[in-house]
Amino acid sequence: MASLLCPSTVAKPGAELFGVQNGSGRIEYLDESIVIDQTFVDVARQGRAPEERFRFASNCAKNGCSHWTKESTSCGLVGKIVDAMNRKAEATLVTCAIRDRCRWFHQQGATACANCDEIVRNLRTREVTSM
Ligand code: SF4
Repeated sequence: MASLLCPSTVAKPGAELFGVQNGSGRIEYLDESIVIDQTFVDVARQGRAPEERFRFASNCAKNGCSHWTKESTSCGLVGKIVDAMNRKAEATLVTCAIRDRCRWFHQQGATACANCDEIVRNLRTREVTSM
């Protein structure tokens, strides 16, 4: 099985852009993800940090990530986000281009998706992990 994707990664060449923050601070998911290149990263870094207004996905680093829990061999971040946001899964899932490869969906299913659209790296993940 191909590696699952971390849905909260940094802007870097080869990462997939799959969500854009709207005016109310929520993520709108693209119908198809876009693989970004160095030019995109360079332009995006001229403004507010791209990780605070876009969502990017790339291969889950597992043991190479501070959120990886060796005990359960899973991502510990999504559980913290679900606990902090505390939203129930909805019957209808929002469209998300990376769902079939998403680490968070793989672990927590629709509950992960219900708690995902206000997450932007650097801001919310920092708040959640400091709880
Ligand atoms: S948790 Fe759900 S909505 Fe969020 S990135 Fe994964 S599949 Fe998409």
